[in-house]
Amino acid sequence: MTYKIKKWGGDDEDIKLIERAFEFAQKAHTGQKRLSGEPYIIHPLAIAEYLADLTHDIPTLAAALLHDVSEDTEYTIKDIQKEFGDEIAFLVEGVTKLDKIKYKGTERAAENLRKMFLAVAEDIRVVLIKLIDRLHNMQTIECMGPEKQKRIALETLEIYAPLAYRLGIGEIKGQLEDLSFPIVSPNEYEWLTKNLKDHFEERKKYVGKLLPIVNRELKLEKINYVDTHARAKHSYSLYKKLLKFDMDLNKIFDLVAVRVIVPEIESCYAALGVIHKLWRPMPGLIKDYIALPKPNGYKSIHTTVFGPEGKMIEFQIRTS
Ligand code: MN
Repeated sequence: MTYKIKKWGGDDEDIKLIERAFEFAQKAHTGQKRLSGEPYIIHPLAIAEYLADLTHDIPTLAAALLHDVSEDTEYTIKDIQKEFGDEIAFLVEGVTKLDKIKYKGTERAAENLRKMFLAVAEDIRVVLIKLIDRLHNMQTIECMGPEKQKRIALETLEIYAPLAYRLGIGEIKGQLEDLSFPIVSPNEYEWLTKNLKDHFEERKKYVGKLLPIVNRELKLEKINYVDTHARAKHSYSLYKKLLKFDMDLNKIFDLVAVRVIVPEIESCYAALGVIHKLWRPMPGLIKDYIALPKPNGYKSIHTTVFGPEGKMIEFQIRTS
């Protein structure tokens, strides 16, 4: 993690603080183990590592390292405050407060709980730490008993994933949902596994091969573009979409989607031409939301093409 901090230009003081927080947490959790049998410190460390890719806020990273100290060890928030100051103590206390909010109920209660969650957190950084805390707990959930797994996974699906979405971190939403899905709806998950040819990991690999081809072709045709990125649709969001399409996988065209960002509108059409030259478009699926914006103001060109290996890819072309 110190490597990451150096890379984004953090100074020696930042690194010293993070090292102090790590040492404090390690001392506080000495002798404690995760359900997996690993030393407890693995958990806060994994969270801080993950967060270092999302934020450059040093207090957030320090608080992540310390987030379970006051709950699970002999040290208190007061000790953290003495050692690390008010801001970090406030963040740790916030995470501890959120631990007490638990979801057991219905859809209606979920919305109230999400609101309460944000109110109790007071600071968006607290929510961020808690989301990654949950992500790590979900990644290691197989160590828990089946009853607890169900409760935690349902809570993740109803409370945490929507909060991640609200915070604009869709990748974490997708991961939280995909980890919960097999536990909350095992039959539906099994159905999807049986009926889907390419699973998320395979789609991700495919996406990795796709982008260089697109970039090369755009450069070759001298199209000015700002950025291209691609994503593979997560399993749970695919399942939810299927519910709206009679569970017909043939009606889903965005298992793989590529976004091309160009500097001006003219380049959108030029880029569309390049993509259609590269891969044959599917009739009826070219949508020009630039000429005809959606009622909510959405402007973009969509097209679906038969990509490499005959797989369908949705392209979205827009200006920055
Ligand atoms: Mn934790």
